[in-house]
Amino acid sequence: MSKLLSHQELGTQLDLYSFHEVSPGAAFWHPKGMVIFKELEKAIREALEKQDYREISTPILVRKDLFEKSGHYEFYKDLMFSLKVDDQTFFLKPMNCPESAIVYATKTRSWRDLPLRFSEIGRLHRKELSGVLNSLFRVRQITMDDAHIYVSVDQLFEEIDRLINLIKNFYAKFKKLETAYYLATRPDKAMGDKKLWEKAEGALAQALEKNKIKYELQPKEGAFYGPKIEVHVKDALGRSWQLGTIQVDFNLAERFNLSFANAEGKKERPVVIHRAVFGSFERFIGILVENYQGAFPVWLSPIQARILTVGEQVEDYGEKIRSEFSQNGIRVEIDNADETVGKKIRNAELEKIPYILVVGKKEEESRSVAVRRRGEGDLGALKLSAAIEKIKKEIENKI
Ligand code: ZN
Repeated sequence: MSKLLSHQELGTQLDLYSFHEVSPGAAFWHPKGMVIFKELEKAIREALEKQDYREISTPILVRKDLFEKSGHYEFYKDLMFSLKVDDQTFFLKPMNCPESAIVYATKTRSWRDLPLRFSEIGRLHRKELSGVLNSLFRVRQITMDDAHIYVSVDQLFEEIDRLINLIKNFYAKFKKLETAYYLATRPDKAMGDKKLWEKAEGALAQALEKNKIKYELQPKEGAFYGPKIEVHVKDALGRSWQLGTIQVDFNLAERFNLSFANAEGKKERPVVIHRAVFGSFERFIGILVENYQGAFPVWLSPIQARILTVGEQVEDYGEKIRSEFSQNGIRVEIDNADETVGKKIRNAELEKIPYILVVGKKEEESRSVAVRRRGEGDLGALKLSAAIEKIKKEIENKI
């Protein structure tokens, strides 16, 4: 077996992204990498719309007092980039939570509003030391698939069960990824009522078991504000990286004095659940690139099909079918280069393009294409409409 390539090598080879000294720890996304980024964005938004999430977007540059209130200043100030503006100190937000709390507090909330699910594809900045930066795996500029869910204590189990289900179904789209789940419990130094902790830990464990997920317990490794579940996946070198997470938080609502009116009309504190399905777009794409070695499922492939013309006389036909594939939502390219078909096929294979469609005189006469599928080889000639349907179906089914 040939050596597995890193996402840095594959990123260059497949023209997906690059890194430059002028902005350490931040990716420059090339058009093909951006296709993957946008497909993931679409997939996560589609999943969330079915789960009654409300998407928000909050500022990146935020005044210091917000982070003093949330506690981030005290615990994370070394990880935050600061700026002086008009004699005041601002930070680039390292997390979305405090601002989600601001949106929550813009209205009087009642038990009927809960669970209230605010999702945010937020751009965050963290001042990681230059020594630990690692291409897409550890960056300074992160795009998170974040959400904050406000629930009553009684809703904890049901909501966590839904979340685990959401995460499980999302990862099921990526057949090459092997997930490992961890449950981290109360550390010695923790805030909040011990009984509440037990209830939350119980809810997390039960929800994992209900969804038939094997997990490893990490005693005392939870955050000081609540227990959490982490989802890990390995890279090409077998190193494990945290992607998704579900964190219960008893602290945030307290700090921001958040409340809702319960069924008796009395004020109650919500519990906040921070959750990310795949964590950061950067790290997740790095993991995908390494686990698939660039041979992505069709729906994620930057180029889904390439038409190879055999001879100048079929270039018009090639162009006609290119436009037909494209109108059917398939990302398609045409290769009219003056090279042998064998060379053109090898080029497309090196770029890991899932469908190669060869057209010559014979195909033009029968309005067909000779199809080669990555991993399957030559599938023979297919009528144009049949080829389009086949690829469309794979895209829709996320294969
Ligand atoms: Zn959060």
